Amino acid sequence: MIVMKFGGTSVAGKEAISRTIDIIGSKVDKQPVVVVSAMSGVTDLLYKIADTAARKDHKSAMALLSELRERHVVTVDELLEGNAGYMLPAISGVNEICDELEQFVIAVCALGELSDRSRAFIVSNGELLSSTIISYALNAKGISTEWLDARKMIITAGDLMKGEPQSERICELVPEVVGAAMKSHKAVITQGFIASDVEGMPSVLGRGGSDYTASLIGMAMNVEAIEIWTDVDGVLTADPRVVKGARKLDTISFEEAAEMAHFGAKVLHPLTIEPAVRENIPIYVLNSMNPAGSGTLIIETATAEDSVKSVSFKENIQVINIFTTKMIDASGFLSKVFDIFSRNNVSVDLISTTEANISVTCDQHPKNIEKVVKELSEFADVEMDGDKSQISVIGKNLVNIEGLMQKMLEALRGKKLYMISQGASYINISVVVDRAVLIESVNSIHHSLFE
Ligand code: ADP
Ligand code: ASP
Ligand code: MG
Repeated sequence: MIVMKFGGTSVAGKEAISRTIDIIGSKVDKQPVVVVSAMSGVTDLLYKIADTAARKDHKSAMALLSELRERHVVTVDELLEGNAGYMLPAISGVNEICDELEQFVIAVCALGELSDRSRAFIVSNGELLSSTIISYALNAKGISTEWLDARKMIITAGDLMKGEPQSERICELVPEVVGAAMKSHKAVITQGFIASDVEGMPSVLGRGGSDYTASLIGMAMNVEAIEIWTDVDGVLTADPRVVKGARKLDTISFEEAAEMAHFGAKVLHPLTIEPAVRENIPIYVLNSMNPAGSGTLIIETATAEDSVKSVSFKENIQVINIFTTKMIDASGFLSKVFDIFSRNNVSVDLISTTEANISVTCDQHPKNIEKVVKELSEFADVEMDGDKSQISVIGKNLVNIEGLMQKMLEALRGKKLYMISQGASYINISVVVDRAVLIESVNSIHHSLFE
């Protein structure tokens, strides 16, 4: 069995879906569990609908809902043209989802109040729509496929908009549901991103979460491979939208992939790797517009080669400098500081310390940052330095690569460096620069390391 996940651009409209169906058709002998994202742009549209409804802007919300319905109905029309037996039920499936959503949005507009529960319900509809359409299209092509509801398999706890998957429960439910459906079908299809929380309320895995769904299902079924089908040839040495000379990596380790995703490479959701590592399942990143390509294989760390793999970046971060004038012992000070970040759920990326100072980086506008600053200010002076970016050079055993730091510093000559850090596992060297010089800095580091 394999898991095949198709992202937004791979299901963006008639052509993309037809290509995707051909790719699935070529792998039916492997019993594919297909996981799909919403059509590209649809989740953004749904977030906008939610915000518009919360502002009680009924008219704009209805206009956006018509846009949503139109886009999906047109896709069904084009995809299943001349095949009324599948087209009519597919259109009524789309209309049913859109009608229910519309009723819900009308109620939110009337109340002008949007809980996380309501928001999660609204943004879940993109994947429900795309998976419904693709399920009909697969069956119309003779690939007998059962549509499965991811909300009955992927169970989360905590924040409904960024749920924490409950692995044990998932590992019980997925084999039951998928196993039963596979007995009578060549393939099954389900939604990425969407889930239910332990009390049955709608939840989602956070933006870009469909990759995570794919690896959770892969783990639960202990599949042969997890395939992430996207719009680039694989994992590249840098984001190709920023670095023209970025090239494809043939193989990287789980650890390198996790580090790249965590430090800004959008190609994978940062938590995708962890479930795959647990069962040691290889992940392939492949291009649905170039299915013959070899893609990138992500495998066990030991087998990957010692070398520099990529330059990733986080564009919008801040440095928080925390000074203490009181002489508390250093360990007490550190634990007090990190306890505050952790209790407020603000995640820290880089850390650098001296006797009486800690500098940390975090996102530019994390939730609860005001609370963190207030609590820190009770025993320390706090300075926030925003509009910064973090650039991370990622690879295996970077400490063994001669002259690497010199090359990086040479590429950054003349730029202000606010922090420099080399991780303990030698997998990552990061620097913090002004956001204004990010693009030129990334290009110049990439040039000196790869071109
Ligand atoms: P999908 O909708 O298929 O999930 P995403 O847009 O989430 O696709 O991720 C793919 C995009 O990630 C690519 O189009 C590319 O612009 C971006 N990206 C950023 N960093 C990298 C990288 N190192 N390698 C490949 N793609 C990257
Ligand atoms: N559709 C969701 C998003 O846009 C999940 C995904 O595409 O991975 O964030
Ligand atoms: Mg994605």
